Amino acid sequence: MALSLKKHIREVPDFPKKGIGFKDVTTLLAHPGAFRESVSQLARAVGSLKFDSVAMIESRGFAFGSALAHKLGRGVILVRKPGKLPAAKIRQSYALEYGRDALEMHRDAVRPGRRVLIVDDLLATGGTALAAARLVERLGGRVAGLAFVVELDFLGGRKKLKGYPVKSLVHYSSE
Ligand code: AMP
Repeated sequence: MALSLKKHIREVPDFPKKGIGFKDVTTLLAHPGAFRESVSQLARAVGSLKFDSVAMIESRGFAFGSALAHKLGRGVILVRKPGKLPAAKIRQSYALEYGRDALEMHRDAVRPGRRVLIVDDLLATGGTALAAARLVERLGGRVAGLAFVVELDFLGGRKKLKGYPVKSLVHYSSE
């Protein structure tokens, strides 16, 4: 029987604040079979998309994004929280399921016309992923699609990403 990715995701109630059901993928990442299966499934899910590189969102997106890019023979682009990147960069702020934040990307990370796949661990309201898409587009790149291990269907992030191909592996229909 196929390994269930969902079984390897730990659910932490009331984190980081009351009412949020946190989907903790560190347990999946720590399990060799589940990690490998998640990356294989991501590779299959994005198989029809054409992209030159993978932009991965700090920090859990780094784990999945780099493994996926390595498997598919692509390079990676780091999308980071403010103040972490050393060279010339651009910033995009966004609303989060629980608060407000911003993301940055090096100005030379995406060359005009290049096709970029965006990867993160989880799609909630879609604010984070949309900010990453804006960063790619502000640098003249094209968003080939967005891929997630987990999607919280009830938060409607997919609607916010309308117009882009969105792939995800594990769905939750309620908190
Ligand atoms: P959003 O911008 O609302 O789509 O939030 C997505 C980002 O926040 C991702 O980088 C996730 O890692 C994190 N996140 C938001 N909600 C959750 C949740 N319920 N469980 C785990 N991570 C979450």
